[in-house]
Amino acid sequence: MAGEEDTDTRNLVEQALAEAAGPRLQSARVSDGVATLVLEVHGLDRLERDRLEIAVRDALRPLNAVREVRVAMTADKPRRQVIAVGSGKGGVGKSTLAANLAVALMRQGRKVGLVDADIYGPSQPRLLANEGKRPEAQGNKLVPVPSPWGVPLLSMGHLVQPGQAIAWRGPMTANAMGQLIDAEWGDADTLVIDLPPGTGDVQLTMMQKHKPTGAVIVSTPQDLALMDAARAIGMFEQGDVPIVGMVENMAGYICPHCGEASEPFGQGGAEAAAKSMGLPFLGRIPLDLTIRQDSDAGRPPAAHDSPQGEAFAAIARRVAEWLTARK
Ligand code: ADP
Repeated sequence: MAGEEDTDTRNLVEQALAEAAGPRLQSARVSDGVATLVLEVHGLDRLERDRLEIAVRDALRPLNAVREVRVAMTADKPRRQVIAVGSGKGGVGKSTLAANLAVALMRQGRKVGLVDADIYGPSQPRLLANEGKRPEAQGNKLVPVPSPWGVPLLSMGHLVQPGQAIAWRGPMTANAMGQLIDAEWGDADTLVIDLPPGTGDVQLTMMQKHKPTGAVIVSTPQDLALMDAARAIGMFEQGDVPIVGMVENMAGYICPHCGEASEPFGQGGAEAAAKSMGLPFLGRIPLDLTIRQDSDAGRPPAAHDSPQGEAFAAIARRVAEWLTARK
């Protein structure tokens, strides 16, 4: 019928524009073969806006169902979207996922900053290879420290000596965390926050003061870890923070010597748990020696095209879709 929206074609349009427009696509509508797009162009100069429009039109040209493209641009300052990465307990790969999610989202076209709020073990400066650097201040705001991987970072590890913050009381950690989040993030459209493990004060303050757009929960596949993960999920739900979904880390192990697959922690537990809690399952990262070696050496696997990098990229795509739908 004339004027009626064609949602199937709109989905195709959104898919086709995922790369060309990324988070700049504010909305898309299709009716009678006319696609009407709103692009958010805050921070782009004339030439960059023209380039964006050309890229968008090129991306839609192959779609037969679209005969005309109308582009509107708005320069409203976008609200920054914040993804908190949490886990029920330590050692499940939360920091590894946060670093690689940030890098993968950046490679998929977002402008990403990473906040390392893990006061017990701030490991992001190591994971992103900017250890030992100090953030500068601009006015009363901290300036994030660039990393070689294109994702700037602010970490508790930049502010204090290792181990020192553990003795802090609640208000001190809340204050420090506020400084990391309300820093000079420039035109970053997405912040990934590596939370401390568990469900204590720091996490609660984080939710009350800086409400994240959504939370990603990391767990290993075995029952005990999953019980902790369920507690973390309960905490976010109580704080009214939507759960983007669950990630299963350290799922299967491929022996680097004989190539045989084994499952030290089982497999599929997190997917089943997500299902039983009615949550999306975002993907699975295998237990893999190169993930640990590259992470320790400050080379995030997500920065490279490889099977390991692809595992993180697939999760990042689901998170990005969720964020785009949330706008
Ligand atoms: P958390 O932040 O939950 O405490 P980390 O991300 O620091 O956990 O990971 C703990 C250790 O496990 C690190 O040495 C990390 O390199 C390693 N690790 C994490 N995920 C994997 C994986 N999928 N394969 C191999 N090693 C991993």
